[in-house]
Amino acid sequence: MNASLPGAPLLAAANLTKSYGNSPALTGVSLEVRPGEATAVMGASGSGKTTLLHCLAGIILPDTGSVRLLSAGSDAPAEITSLDDAARSALRRTEFGFVFQQGLLIPELTAGENVALALMLNGTARPVAEQQAAAALAALGLAGMEGRRIGELSGGQAQRVAIARAQVNGARVLFADEPTGALDSRTSADVMALLLQSVAGTGRALVVVTHDPEVARWCSRVVTLADGRIVADTAGVVR
Ligand code: ADP
Ligand code: MG
Repeated sequence: MNASLPGAPLLAAANLTKSYGNSPALTGVSLEVRPGEATAVMGASGSGKTTLLHCLAGIILPDTGSVRLLSAGSDAPAEITSLDDAARSALRRTEFGFVFQQGLLIPELTAGENVALALMLNGTARPVAEQQAAAALAALGLAGMEGRRIGELSGGQAQRVAIARAQVNGARVLFADEPTGALDSRTSADVMALLLQSVAGTGRALVVVTHDPEVARWCSRVVTLADGRIVADTAGVVR
């Protein structure tokens, strides 16, 4: 019961457990994702999807178990679970990208500024960051829209800005939590196509949490959680 692609994993989680008080959110979850793989994480509300995503990305630490990231040009994987807060934040700025249902984009800033900010936080000078941001937006169909404020964009356009921001630093793993939750089905399909496009043929991996079977159908692999455990791991419909 493992529909993963062959090859070396990029991110490997082993035996993750996490409880909030007395209630377990994850109980012994192991999951490896590989370059080029798009993994949908499905399951009922409260099954542990977001907790798993946050553990994989080093946003929270599991109670037990490990998450390792295989770093480019190094044989030694980074043990995310043994890094301190600052090191995990640094990793999130450089290796990981995030697309959530909403939020995260700063509404008072323009599309270009939102994307450029991710680069500037990594030390890129503003003019260069703005140029790269405009190019990243153009690649996602938002050419010439870098000057628009987020509030002046449609939901689908705002998600494109979020995707641009998530990948502009060269992230090797994209994490998305219900990225289409606020979109109509047509716009959802567009956003999923763009997310998959940024994974196909690159060394990236995508982990997308969704409760929408239509979204999961876009992924090469579907992992289903129930009560904090993986209960199914199947090949998706490859498009
Ligand atoms: P999902 O994303 O599948 O809806 P979550 O990972 O958000 O599930 O939650 C899994 C379980 O852990 C749920 O019972 C939820 O109430 C609980 N939980 C999640 N985050 C917290 C938190 N910060 N504090 C307390 N309980 C939490
Ligand atoms: Mg959730």
